[in-house]
Amino acid sequence: MKEPFRRALGIIRTLKQHGYEAYFVGGAVRDHLLNRPIGDVDIATSALPEEVMAIFPKTVPVGLKHGTVVVLHDGTPYEVTTFRTEGTYEKYRRPESVTFVRSLRKDLERRDFTMNAIAMDETGQLIDPFGGQQAIAEQVICTVGAAKDRFSEDALRMMRAIRFVSQLGFQLAKETKQAIIEHASLLAHISVERKTVEFEKLMAGPFSAAAFSLLVETNTFLYLPGLAGKRAELQKLSQYEWTALTSPAERWGFLVYLLHVERVSLFLRQWKLSNRLMKDVQTILYALSVVRSFADWTNERLYEIGATAAFAAETVRSLVNGENSTQNVQKLRQRLAALPIQDRSELAVTGKDVIEWYNQRGGPWVAQTLQQIEQAVLAGLVENEKERIKEWLIRWNQTHEKNC
Ligand code: ATP
Ligand code: MG
Repeated sequence: MKEPFRRALGIIRTLKQHGYEAYFVGGAVRDHLLNRPIGDVDIATSALPEEVMAIFPKTVPVGLKHGTVVVLHDGTPYEVTTFRTEGTYEKYRRPESVTFVRSLRKDLERRDFTMNAIAMDETGQLIDPFGGQQAIAEQVICTVGAAKDRFSEDALRMMRAIRFVSQLGFQLAKETKQAIIEHASLLAHISVERKTVEFEKLMAGPFSAAAFSLLVETNTFLYLPGLAGKRAELQKLSQYEWTALTSPAERWGFLVYLLHVERVSLFLRQWKLSNRLMKDVQTILYALSVVRSFADWTNERLYEIGATAAFAAETVRSLVNGENSTQNVQKLRQRLAALPIQDRSELAVTGKDVIEWYNQRGGPWVAQTLQQIEQAVLAGLVENEKERIKEWLIRWNQTHEKNC
């Protein structure tokens, strides 16, 4: 058994010792069968949440309504969820409350796709009532049960199907794809936050080209924030090397750029991104506009924009131009490293020094003088060394006075 499962075995064994059933389930089992890196190991059990909490010393009741308790085991948190069915669905969304059941099969039956509906016991034996292993072998994404019913219950599953295409490179099963085409409009009932989680995973997947095409082909894009009028632009997203992008901010920046979004902050707010992420995206877009309008980086602009945003903008710029982003960023990295200073904090003098030298009270002139010094150091007019800067400043003032 692979290490991530082995580390969680204690939880399964303890539950079993107390007379309950317990299995590994979900994405970890799927990824194990695919030989992909295993993410969070989730456990499903016949024990009720309060029973789980009574057994383990360290638990956090994160989602009691949905039957989920986090168990801290050897310092790692694991989600332990009671076998459940989802009862009646409200308005094409996940229900507010669920019904706990004592049967694993029922729990697997409520899961979205057959590849995600496989359980593994503590000996590594698989319980696979819906043909999940075969789907994995055939590389198909197929709903558990009738696709149209499953998408009507929870429309988000359609987005999940397409993001799994992006992550795994699988095909959609024929019936699954057809049902997405027919039920795409139900996505209108889904909260933006849930769509954003899936869309970010979709953009980050190695097979995003296929996924972007599917968003258009199935018309799901019509129900995603700010994308409805962008069919032609979306179609072109498949042409680019998205895997070269290294962060969510770069991916959103690239998306906004390629879609020719006019009101960027409105667009990002529609997706309900965090303030931090929105700011990072805007910085990248600003850097991109600067470098594009000046055709190339200058030392001053590189310095002003700073390493993180400059490298991100360079990655995006390279991809837009069909160039090798890694090489281009490497060149920029060398160029930044060759600058006398990379950041204002590296300047050898402070406002206090300047005030002392002039023997005057502080005021806006201090910041102005520091800026002058910074520009001179950056341009190589003076070495970044206290005494040298002082001499240069005196000389500069003398010339300046004569000229006035
Ligand atoms: P990832 O590797 O991205 O986490 P995952 O398959 O583990 O993929 P999760 O969102 O973590 O996805 O969900 C865990 C499991 O819960 C899934 O494998 C699936 O069995 C089930 N599941 C998640 N969301 C739904 C849903 N909307 N409808 C039905 N089952 C779902
Ligand atoms: Mg998961």
